[in-house]
Amino acid sequence: MTFDEILRCFKSVTKTGEGYTALCPAHDDRARSLSIKNGNDRALVNCFAGCSAEQIAASINLKISDLFYEPRPDRKLKIVEKPPPPLTLMAGTVPLIVSPARAGN
Ligand SMILES: [Zn+2]
Repeated sequence: MTFDEILRCFKSVTKTGEGYTALCPAHDDRARSLSIKNGNDRALVNCFAGCSAEQIAASINLKISDLFYEPRPDRKLKIVEKPPPPLTLMAGTVPLIVSPARAGN
């Protein structure tokens, strides 16, 4: 999910200097105890009343993994196929095949 999508899951979201505050869905919150910050790879949620991130995510029908931003398609690493290694010819390694039918011919 994106940070904006995650923000929309909360109620009474208000921008603050460092991020956002919202009503914590994990307890009966009336004072916007929840702090939501835009981390590098996920939304950082912190309830001042002590709710865990798991409880907060579960209360809005999300998993902890949903708080992580999905990698964008254009950011995905392209798998570059390696060309096959060149055949190395080594003199003296080709076995001699002696056909028994020809032996003694
Ligand atoms: Zn809470």
